[in-house]
Amino acid sequence: MSRRKEKAKIVFTILEEQNPHPVTELNFETPWQLLVATVLSAQSTDKQVNKVTTLLFDKYPYPAQFAALTPEELAEEIKSIGLFRTKSKHLVVSARALLERHGGEVPADLVSLLSLPGVGQKTANVILANAFGIPALAVDTHVFRVANRIGLAKAKTPVATEEQLTSIIGRELWADAHHWLILHGRYICHARNPHCSQCSLREHCDYFQSYRKK
Ligand code: SF4
Repeated sequence: MSRRKEKAKIVFTILEEQNPHPVTELNFETPWQLLVATVLSAQSTDKQVNKVTTLLFDKYPYPAQFAALTPEELAEEIKSIGLFRTKSKHLVVSARALLERHGGEVPADLVSLLSLPGVGQKTANVILANAFGIPALAVDTHVFRVANRIGLAKAKTPVATEEQLTSIIGRELWADAHHWLILHGRYICHARNPHCSQCSLREHCDYFQSYRKK
């Protein structure tokens, strides 16, 4: 077994013991609502997104209602979220594309998802894994940072990190691995000030080991 595969086995066993059934912290009831919440979550916190979507989904639960809005009308509803003007344009155009091309349903395949405005590789993988139960490992800023610090990946981009992680982790664990690494990044392995002294992974973390040797 390669060193990184072995490390992945140890790291995810530890994280699984701490949190056997990790789930997204975004609130949603349908694939469309998850798509909206995930698009809104870029450069924003899940807590802030949930606050906005609680009201938004009460008023507009379905893609057809988003499609009937102008981007300016939607922007007014989500203006407490970063980049709200761009996100509102993407969501209105995506809702219209769903109605025109997919009968108003979110498609469950990567290529169709990537053709929707505002939906990149990370968002598409989040939707596949969390809305459809299709194995996918979304790499956001937390997953990218934590995976590369620990040494599960040695990559310069999220896409390369995804390729490396999916080559050493069994498909059945991709969705859970995504959640575990996000939660670890959000609560322990912060970007500027990682809490290594409280981290259960430090004996297996390249960043901690090289820092300790200095
Ligand atoms: S030991 Fe430090 S750098 Fe490594 S995963 Fe834990 S918090 Fe992050």
